[in-house]
Amino acid sequence: MKFKVPEHTLAIKPYVPGKPLAELEREYGITDSIKLASNENPLGPSPKAVAAMREYATRMHRYPDEPAYALLQGIAARHRVTSEQVIVGNGSDDVLGMLALALLQPGDEVIVPTPSFLMYAIVAQTAGATIVKAPLDGVTIDLGGVLSRVNVQTRMIFICNPNNPTGQVVLRKDFESFLSALPDHVVVVVDEAYAEFVREPNTFQGSQYLNADIAVVTLRTFSKAFGLAGLRVGYGLLPEDLAAILNRVRMPFNVNAMAQAAAAAALEDDDFLQKTIAAVHQGLDWFYTQLTQRQIGHVPSQSNFFLIDIDADMLRETVPAHGAYNDALAK
Ligand code: PMP
Repeated sequence: MKFKVPEHTLAIKPYVPGKPLAELEREYGITDSIKLASNENPLGPSPKAVAAMREYATRMHRYPDEPAYALLQGIAARHRVTSEQVIVGNGSDDVLGMLALALLQPGDEVIVPTPSFLMYAIVAQTAGATIVKAPLDGVTIDLGGVLSRVNVQTRMIFICNPNNPTGQVVLRKDFESFLSALPDHVVVVVDEAYAEFVREPNTFQGSQYLNADIAVVTLRTFSKAFGLAGLRVGYGLLPEDLAAILNRVRMPFNVNAMAQAAAAAALEDDDFLQKTIAAVHQGLDWFYTQLTQRQIGHVPSQSNFFLIDIDADMLRETVPAHGAYNDALAK
């Protein structure tokens, strides 16, 4: 290479997304398949969001509203925070990127429970920070193990709640004692990409800790429960002073106009949200019953995905065609 690339950039293993359905169907010579890999919404996008996009289409010659006024207001109202405590992103991945860009530098340490969502390590590496892995305790995040890795270099800790890929939540009481044990030079990032699907009442919402001594950033997304993964809209709920710092590195117009209109409309589509949550819960319960009957190990989840103890070849042979699943849902 003629150009110089920092070592920490060369060390990054790129994120590998699930293959598009059309490509997989070509590869296996099949049709009518269902993609499960990215935990998208089984019902499609929110109808109110679709209507808003249709209406907005004729206005696409204009730049988006900056800084996404209506969307910020809608998110703030939903979470009972101020719009100064909200930052929007081109997907929550974009907010992760802003956190790394604004807050991390080489020499800093970032604690990542492992396994968890791969982007935490990737964004931290883009800033040259050192990744410190904290192994899970079985399938749950080991907060004690995370705490034991905190030192003067620690700048950021990621808590995925519920955790991707294990689907387990951290309980409120455990999170609170964890927070009270942390030094205040640490930022805790709580990723709630799947929070809408949680059935466990004793977990916590990161947005309730906006006034805590430790800076807590909560990430949410429109990609899962609101069915807008293709539009790329996510957001962070965070203390106002930290939001102002992130806004320094946020690209102007980072959420496009169509996405702003659709996401704001989706927030008003409670009917769709409730239908989505019900479909996911019904689907999970159906799977648990089927797997238990077949004595296939699985871990009940607080999310819209779950772990199954099986090898992929066996899965293809064993689980009945999805027609059976749809028939069961219709009953
Ligand atoms: N966090 C977690 C835990 C995820 O699983 C995902 C998507 N797979 C994201 C964040 C990214 O979501 P977005 O589409 O908002 O970038």
